[in-house]
Amino acid sequence: MTSTDSALTPFLSLSRDDLILWLKDVGVPAYRGNQIWSWVHQNCASSFDEMSNLPQELRDRLKSSFTLFQMEPLKHQKAKDNTEKLLLRLRDGEEIECVLMRETNRRTICISTQVGCAMGCTFCASGLLGLNRNLAKAEILEQIYRLDRLLKADERLTNIVVMGIGEPLANLKELLPALSTVHAEEGMNLGVRRVTISTVGLPGKIEELADTGLPYNLAISLHAPNDSLRTEIVPVNKNIGVEKLLAAADLYFEKTGRRVSYEYILLGSINDRPVHAQQLAALMKGRNAHVNLIPMNDVAELPFHSPSAPRTKEFERLLKEAGVNATVRKRKGADIDAACGQLRLNEQKQKADGAQIVTLKT
Ligand code: SAH
Repeated sequence: MTSTDSALTPFLSLSRDDLILWLKDVGVPAYRGNQIWSWVHQNCASSFDEMSNLPQELRDRLKSSFTLFQMEPLKHQKAKDNTEKLLLRLRDGEEIECVLMRETNRRTICISTQVGCAMGCTFCASGLLGLNRNLAKAEILEQIYRLDRLLKADERLTNIVVMGIGEPLANLKELLPALSTVHAEEGMNLGVRRVTISTVGLPGKIEELADTGLPYNLAISLHAPNDSLRTEIVPVNKNIGVEKLLAAADLYFEKTGRRVSYEYILLGSINDRPVHAQQLAALMKGRNAHVNLIPMNDVAELPFHSPSAPRTKEFERLLKEAGVNATVRKRKGADIDAACGQLRLNEQKQKADGAQIVTLKT
């Protein structure tokens, strides 16, 4: 990136109307707008030079007004199971990460919404260094488009999970416009139902999301079946409480018709006892819900560990026996620190240790 680039407007921050206005201003016919939009939002073009059906003069004009991709890939890792992960440096030097996961019929990407996180969950690598800032719409879209470009010709993006670094509901202002660009027919045309937003559980924001009327899948990071334990491991629970959270989730289900899923990270000897399964089952009773059990991904700095496989199975069995819809989440990309925030954290640590960053161009 040259120093002049930073004065340019990120193209991905534009709405279609913004583009139409700009074209009018520079005296270019409006139909060019469709071509440009489709290059950017359907073909995920990374530069204006790729736009082969535009006159050179227009490409130059775009280049002198806008930047397209503005992040720098610092790392591109590929796991044995073909999960791929990008560590991206933003224009202001901050770093975020995003992931592409491959399953038989699914190509799911996991994106970040903030630089760091303010929620302070005790087992999570993303929040260890606090929150620096929200990501902008353009930065959210660029993650999606960069990951899409990693797909092979015969692969198609099928799902987005907003489960990367940050609390998505604390940044709805930038997240929703980014997603609506992706849902649009003139964009990737990816259905709202193919997107899952994961939240620590902020009731007011859950209501705000429900009020959009858009049927996003909502995943709530519950992680504990009672207030004292939840407040211990998910500190924001102190001012919320499980009851209020579940009430917001019920309202979300009523308004959108989407079954809410509850994430429950299993932390050995902390929230994995039979009594916790019983309490969790009692909370889920009568709710059309799904519980996703997540074995803890070890984070070197943190004193928590995933329970053994038999203990995990037993927890799942107890839930099922009590009539709860429960599954254990498959681990993806375990050999590349694919749990959110781990790669960034390791990078920050290395920097603090004065180690060199290896720059891989993708
Ligand atoms: N802030 C949002 C979304 C980002 S975290 C939320 O809390 O849901 C996405 C999911 O990963 C959450 O369920 C979170 O609790 C979980 N998670 C965080 N650290 C983890 C770890 N070390 N191992 C496994 N899951 C983790």
